Amino acid sequence: MSDTYKKIIRLDKNEIPFNVPESFRIKLTEVVSGLEMNRYPEDYSESLREKIGKIYGLGADNIIVGNGSDQVITFLFDFLRNTEIVTSTPTFSMYKFFAEKKGIRFSEIPMTRMFEPDIDKLLKFSNSSYIVCSPNNPTGNTTDRDTVKSLLETGNTVIVDEAYGEFAGNGCADLVRDYDNLIVMRTFSKAFGLAGLRIGYAISSSETMEKIQKTLPPFILSSISHVAATILLDYRHEIMKNVEYIIRERERIYREISDFSFPSKANFILVNLDVFQFLKDNGILVRKLGDPLSRMVRVTVGLEHENDALINALKMFRDPIRH
Ligand code: PMP
Repeated sequence: MSDTYKKIIRLDKNEIPFNVPESFRIKLTEVVSGLEMNRYPEDYSESLREKIGKIYGLGADNIIVGNGSDQVITFLFDFLRNTEIVTSTPTFSMYKFFAEKKGIRFSEIPMTRMFEPDIDKLLKFSNSSYIVCSPNNPTGNTTDRDTVKSLLETGNTVIVDEAYGEFAGNGCADLVRDYDNLIVMRTFSKAFGLAGLRIGYAISSSETMEKIQKTLPPFILSSISHVAATILLDYRHEIMKNVEYIIRERERIYREISDFSFPSKANFILVNLDVFQFLKDNGILVRKLGDPLSRMVRVTVGLEHENDALINALKMFRDPIRH
């Protein structure tokens, strides 16, 4: 890694700024060195699915896994390919990307001014599926459970992408007991800090998951990803400490910049300033957004000193005379 690269403060990809715990890395190295790599991994990652399921009081048959939730989205879209997929925008761009690649009909309903889903318009769709990102990337707000329930009551399949769910508190996973048309997606890439190993999963009723599981090939997760996720689940206490740090920092940043940003329940904040190039010139890389947010940026919550640099730079941009 070059020195120039190291100096840049990277707040562009919604990663957690901590590596996974050292004791985890030592344990993982030991387990990986003992792996029989000539052997295929578990056919359908049964033991990992079982361990994930237990966290939610569910079983392996309620869970599917993939190489990141990006791949899980592709599995779910394949399953829903005969419906129209409906989402509220602005949202995570990969939904449209995958739907278009797969030739699936895709409708985008603009959110209201405060980035709430336009529920009246959404409820007009029948024989469709919804995808709801909560907390939403890039706006940071959550969709409340009552809104999710009213979408579920239509009978359409509802995917709730909770990639940032750990930073928001309670999600919707418990609702899979009441609604077999609900699929909740989660990932090891954000709060768990395993973005480099690419592991995501979805939770649903066993009836729905049985149908989806039948469409999936074996050996989706490599042995290394499988053992890493399995072991990391034992470190949830440490992971939650990282999450608390990020939430504290998120609220601190927001207090400083609330005049020109939006409140967030994720590990990033949407900033209402056209400040991408200015921040880059000051050594801070953030996410440039497309229309209709092309005059805003999304900033990931980083370490305290990185966030201080971000706050100072944003204030300098806003008020160059005082700073
Ligand atoms: N969903 C959302 C809302 C995301 O922001 C991301 C990553 N940026 C993903 C899914 C994909 O995450 P991964 O494939 O790393 O699990």
